[in-house]
Amino acid sequence: MPTPPILTPEQRAAALGKATAARQLRALIKAQVKSGDLTLDAVFLLAQSDQAIAKMRVAELLESVSGVGKVRAQSVMERLNISPTRRVQGLGSIQRRSLREEFSQPSSLRQGKLIVLSGPGGVGKSTIAKELRKRNEFWVSISATTREPRAQEVDGVDYYFYTEEEFDSAVKADLFLEWAQFAGARYGTARQPVEDALRLGKSVLLEIDIEGAKQVKAHAPQSLLVFLAPPTWEELVSRLEGRGTDSPERRTARLTLAQEELAQASFFDQSVINDDVERVVAHLIGLATQ
Ligand code: 5GP
Repeated sequence: MPTPPILTPEQRAAALGKATAARQLRALIKAQVKSGDLTLDAVFLLAQSDQAIAKMRVAELLESVSGVGKVRAQSVMERLNISPTRRVQGLGSIQRRSLREEFSQPSSLRQGKLIVLSGPGGVGKSTIAKELRKRNEFWVSISATTREPRAQEVDGVDYYFYTEEEFDSAVKADLFLEWAQFAGARYGTARQPVEDALRLGKSVLLEIDIEGAKQVKAHAPQSLLVFLAPPTWEELVSRLEGRGTDSPERRTARLTLAQEELAQASFFDQSVINDDVERVVAHLIGLATQ
């Protein structure tokens, strides 16, 4: 085994000082990239004359761009054939150019993508939306509804729980991008926050029913409608029956509706089978970053 170099106390202090300075410089670079004061291009330039910047991991650098999370950074690197451990100094000129193009527009000029996730009740849309909400890749809309909150549901987190009157006034004031009746209750997506997020360059995810999805497509043809399908019909039935939070009448209504909803998959831009939450989440993030 090679013996480690023996350093004098002075040499060790100097090495430690150098390492700390490099760390601080990288932290400063990341903060400036995050605030938009420094472009990736500028970082690539600085890396030519500074070893601490040259040795920075590309993934770490990309994740410091405002609005870019781990998953987006990974997916962009994969697409550009950049290995996950690559350092800035190891980037080829084509890779640098692609990264520059990918991230150079200020987010305020790049419209976010509007992705609508729909599918039969019970297929697991809300689990996917919850997962996506935890990450930083999407702005996930919180709907308004007139249905009663279920146990554990929190107003302003899961839904905005509206009275019938409140919902009526919101409809009258044209505050909804779309709204629909579902199993005896009304559900709607507030228009303003969606438009604001898109304008700021953030991709938006709407987790809504099929009628609502159609309305969104009619108003925003650039939106991408994704149909979430169950692995099998039996799986969907068992999920709906195992819910235990609905009355028997509501469950029967949901099953009938689910059959009709499944028949509408062809209306969507694409269909994804919900057999693995992580896979579906990664797929949706991939769509937002394409
Ligand atoms: P749940 O009551 O189980 O939370 O939701 C019932 C259905 O309403 C689900 O299919 C869900 O996707 C849909 N939904 C939730 N929010 C909205 C919304 O804002 N608009 C529309 N059209 N449907 C929604």
